[in-house]
Amino acid sequence: MRALNKNQRRSLVTGAAIAVCLVGLSAYALQQRGDRSQADEVARGAVTTHLPQAVRDVKVIEARVPGRPLVVIDAGHGGDDPGAPGVSGTVVEKEITLALARELRDRLAEGGRVRVALTRDEDRTLELDTRAAIARRLGTDLFVSIHADSAPNPLARGATVYSVSEIASDADAARFAAAQNGSGGPMSSLPDGSVRTLLADLAARDEMAESASFAGRLVTKSAGRGVELRPEPHRFAAFRVLRGAEAPAVLFEAGYLSNAEDEAALRSPEQRARLVRALADAIEAELAVRRARR
Ligand SMILES: [Zn+2]
Repeated sequence: MRALNKNQRRSLVTGAAIAVCLVGLSAYALQQRGDRSQADEVARGAVTTHLPQAVRDVKVIEARVPGRPLVVIDAGHGGDDPGAPGVSGTVVEKEITLALARELRDRLAEGGRVRVALTRDEDRTLELDTRAAIARRLGTDLFVSIHADSAPNPLARGATVYSVSEIASDADAARFAAAQNGSGGPMSSLPDGSVRTLLADLAARDEMAESASFAGRLVTKSAGRGVELRPEPHRFAAFRVLRGAEAPAVLFEAGYLSNAEDEAALRSPEQRARLVRALADAIEAELAVRRARR
């Protein structure tokens, strides 16, 4: 579909909403992300049998004030899937991502400005679709999936922020997203050309714009906190785990485990604290700005 300006999109949404009423559906219900019926999710192929248990296991930490937005932090890999090995041979990606996710959760909980939850708080195997479904079920306002990179070139280093998009920013990002997405069904969950597809498409466009806004903010905060960044640190591609969250979402690659300096930094709690501060500052600022806009 060609790009639409705001007015065109608004009139399309209005037209679409009227059409929805005419066919006896509720546009309101369609827009309640995270509140879809299980049958609906099963039909969309996005749910696995262990999802209800995985959702029940998630603990949402409340903010100091009720009604604050929710951020879901996803520690990449886990359980049977170790992720990338560290160059020292003493650590694997799933351990680094869980340490970062827990430290970020604790910092956000301490701040009390947002609600926060982790997709996993232990060494467990979780499918990509389950991670996304947890975020969707909880009705998350922001989804941050944490990973660490690996590359054949041992000198490659620095953090990268990927925001969700239909088009990749570069060939590397496209290859990376394809590898992350693995095998599985098509990413588009609504197959026909119905009004419902149109509404979902428009919602996805808003999510992409807000994902890119958050990614930009995270790059700025990271640079301000002395975090090592890759050249052109904000990239974008069609990540399955991000699209499935149905919320603004980024995938944060915290650094290269194939690089000795990055690996040492990711193993050090003091060095990780810089990353955690940058992430927490960016999350709190993004959600505060969005609240103020409403
Ligand atoms: Zn990873």
